[in-house]
Amino acid sequence: MTLSAENLRIGIPSKGRLSELAGELLRDAGLSFRRQERSLFARVKDMPIDVTFLRTEDIPVLVAEGAIDMGITGADLIQESAATVNNRLNLGVGQCRLAICVPDESSIQSPAQLNGLRVATSFPHCTDTFLRTHGAKVHLVTLSGSVEVMIALGVADAIVDLVETGSTLAANRLRVLCEIGRYETVLIQNPAKRLSVVADRVVRRLEGVVIARAYSLLEYNISRKKLAEAEKITPGFNSPTVSSLEDSEWCAVRVMVRRGEVIGIMERLEALGATAILEMQITNCRL
Ligand code: AMP
Repeated sequence: MTLSAENLRIGIPSKGRLSELAGELLRDAGLSFRRQERSLFARVKDMPIDVTFLRTEDIPVLVAEGAIDMGITGADLIQESAATVNNRLNLGVGQCRLAICVPDESSIQSPAQLNGLRVATSFPHCTDTFLRTHGAKVHLVTLSGSVEVMIALGVADAIVDLVETGSTLAANRLRVLCEIGRYETVLIQNPAKRLSVVADRVVRRLEGVVIARAYSLLEYNISRKKLAEAEKITPGFNSPTVSSLEDSEWCAVRVMVRRGEVIGIMERLEALGATAILEMQITNCRL
């Protein structure tokens, strides 16, 4: 198939860690497509949208140039490319930090001490900008990957790389000297906003999935006397829904709670005297 000029074009990573995450997000948002093997394009079912499969690092510049209308990529890659794009939505996945790292045993304590040394990275623009503002002029060794082994290879004195869990650093006996920035996967749009009605529908649909993934629905019964205190523990996204129970001294509360906080909140509600505390998964929402 070929791209249609009337369709909104969304670029997503063709491979790598973001490829699956982006495909899953779009499908959960009801934007389903089938990619034929090795095909560069796929048409979204029942929507005037074409999905194109691209290199993650090319997506910022291709959105900025208008070759595609929207794209899913890492905020780190947008900063590195210095492309002019609109950030429409943080997607709640791919969280990482870009960090300057040195050997565990290195005596270097600040970025300024890197002055005159060699720094290997796939992020030369971010690295250079950051180090110059910290008074260090370095020799940049620009690579497309495997940056973490460059100190062991004798090519660099420090590296600048993405860190997620830190296990790659530990395996290579490196430590974080300082952070350049924190990033996540984002949905971006060309500033001309072609086909903005469809584009805004895509944003709303993805937003529904992103919020649903970040929250659970909690239901519990609480005595009316303790309701105000319970509402302080669970203020909700907007405000909790409170319904009457047969026993007029009690009520039922239904409220959205951040997933990571659910267990702690359940414990606090139980300690307050709440009963029948239930966590329910939300798969999609419109708020
Ligand atoms: P970790 O060992 O979990 O700290 O992950 C570090 C390795 O994964 C490095 O090689 C990074 O380049 C890569 N990495 C971590 N987070 C991301 C991300 N959000 N996007 C692309 N690569 C990443």
